[in-house]
Amino acid sequence: MIRSYEAIVVGAGPAGLATSRELARAGVEHRVLERGDQVGYTWANLYDSLALHTGRHLSALPGLAFPSGTPLFPPRRDFLDYLHRYASTFNLPIDTSSDVRKIERRDDRWAVRLRTGTTLEARTLVVATGIVANPYLPEIPGRDRFTGRVMHSVDYRRPAGMKGKRVLVVGAGNSAGEISVELARAGADVTLAVRTGATIVPREILGIPIQYLSVILHPLPRTLVQHLTTAVGRLRGPRVLPLPARTLCPKVPLIENRRGLALAEALRARTIHLQGGLTAFTAAGVCFSDGTEQPFDEVVLATGFRAALGFLDGEITRDPCGFGRRRDRVVSLDRPNLCFVGHNYDTRGGLYNISIDGARAAREVTRALRDTGRTSTGTRPARSER
Ligand SMILES: Cc1cc2nc3c(=O)[nH]c(=O)nc-3n(C[C@H](O)[C@H](O)[C@H](O)COP(=O)(O)OP(=O)(O)OC[C@H]3O[C@@H](n4cnc5c(N)ncnc54)[C@H](O)[C@@H]3O)c2cc1C
Repeated sequence: MIRSYEAIVVGAGPAGLATSRELARAGVEHRVLERGDQVGYTWANLYDSLALHTGRHLSALPGLAFPSGTPLFPPRRDFLDYLHRYASTFNLPIDTSSDVRKIERRDDRWAVRLRTGTTLEARTLVVATGIVANPYLPEIPGRDRFTGRVMHSVDYRRPAGMKGKRVLVVGAGNSAGEISVELARAGADVTLAVRTGATIVPREILGIPIQYLSVILHPLPRTLVQHLTTAVGRLRGPRVLPLPARTLCPKVPLIENRRGLALAEALRARTIHLQGGLTAFTAAGVCFSDGTEQPFDEVVLATGFRAALGFLDGEITRDPCGFGRRRDRVVSLDRPNLCFVGHNYDTRGGLYNISIDGARAAREVTRALRDTGRTSTGTRPARSER
């Protein structure tokens, strides 16, 4: 007996929750499948000190504002509470501990196989599995020889136990910056290895989140916005990191919080040391691109993530940034009745984009159901069985 739905949403992070709420509003009978033991599983497991770098007014999901009294930049714990409240406010149909392993197109339906072996079916599919479930670990020669500890930033929680240790943080993103500063403040001897560079911008200007300015400037040509970003980066003094490499993929600047992340100051004062790219591990440390070798006790790879889409291998092709190829922001170019939410990243913030794309995906799903024979919305029995 296979349970069958009009739509299945994979992932109960912000993207899956926003989509589910919009599907429910449209009367689409659906299920949200989440591998973790709770909604917002990603946010339940990121580092303790993390806070949104986007403002609460433009980080809320459709239909529910943050409660009054929430800080302008909500801390991780507040954001997680918000996601839980979102799911319960709209009574969203979520199955936790439902790890999706394989999804295939069978005739005119999607067959969704869980780790438990159970298979579910749906006429339409929304993939909202984000990127954090797929941390990127670059191939670095000699890793087996290194006697210290190597972890990805996704496994970093707090600086306890790092005092006095020589720690190398690899990367030029917000996690790399925040973790470096936190470890240095906790008494670790921190080096930051940056291969491609980044622009550091303040989190707010005159009390206004820089993200809000990004939203206003977004319609301008991309190169003009990049020039403006560079100019804003210079407001706090000369550049401390190399220029970011040109890439087709969205590159979010390093957003500096004066009270929390003070990376530029720390790099200038050399309380955090700067190095180029990491080329190899040695037994006691690493080699850098300038040929120097240094000992380290710990290496934190803040090397980013890739879209978590392995369960769709063979069904879809990817764009140059690793996301599913799509049109109109969310619609798969490869397969019918498939949308992706949470695949649009830019300086307006992933959450801002999710609030647009959840509604868009729900409209596409509703249209697809109508076009494939569903006559009305919200009137079918809750579940059909085969
Ligand atoms: C450290 C960090 C900080 C960020 N800060 C901000 C910020 O301040 N502002 C902002 O706008 N954006 C921010 N982002 C970017 C983005 O908005 C967030 O990553 C956001 O959580 C994306 O939502 P999502 O639902 O797409 O992905 P996620 O939050 O990762 O949710 C995806 C869900 O899918 C589940 N899942 C994955 N694979 C499977 C599977 N096979 N089967 C079932 N379930 C699965 C996961 O467990 C997870 O619950 C940040 C990202 C990171 C990594």
